[in-house]
Amino acid sequence: MPNYVAGDLRDQLAHAGYSMVSAGLVVGSGGNLSARVPDADTCWVTGAGTWLDRLNRSDFAEVGLADGGPAGGRVPRDGVPPSTELALHLATYRVRPDVRAIVHLHPQTALLLDALGERIRLVSTDHAVYLRRIVTTPFRPPGSAELAGVAAAAAADGANCILLAHHGCSVLGESVEIAHKRAVYLEEAARLTYAALAAGVLDKLPECPDRSILSA
Ligand SMILES: [Zn+2]
Repeated sequence: MPNYVAGDLRDQLAHAGYSMVSAGLVVGSGGNLSARVPDADTCWVTGAGTWLDRLNRSDFAEVGLADGGPAGGRVPRDGVPPSTELALHLATYRVRPDVRAIVHLHPQTALLLDALGERIRLVSTDHAVYLRRIVTTPFRPPGSAELAGVAAAAAADGANCILLAHHGCSVLGESVEIAHKRAVYLEEAARLTYAALAAGVLDKLPECPDRSILSA
């Protein structure tokens, strides 16, 4: 039986946030998370200014996918305002009905490699299967409609791992678990690539053969 956190999507996102910060992917406030609510045109998204390793159910806002307004038009008392990066999440959900969770992080090694102009290598079968293709989008200001637009265009083209230049990543999944897993593998692939780069052997680093992807 799968043993990932079950039940309320906010609990799943809180687990993902805690785990990713604990794993050193990102400092506590470097990103935001969301999940599409089943059978509703809404999603849960982390509140503005929340730390990813300290999330409780009250740290999430439920917003409409169409307009980003509070779900059902009601503003909950004591409710948190949604993340300033809300537009990024909404634009991606609109173009990808299959996506049910989005992990937006500022992961250190992936960012460094992208800034250096180095492509992240897919070394293991995990990288090949879960990441498959990493797409970089040009720099746009954080929180802007322009950023949401370039990320959504990459998502509409089928990418699940999107690097936002000089900012972070937007990792998509059909569940919180898969988006979480992809984010972990993205930074792992980046760390392996950086290790080879720092050792001066990046040009000798072989990538996972395509055959492994097909048989996985
Ligand atoms: Zn960000």
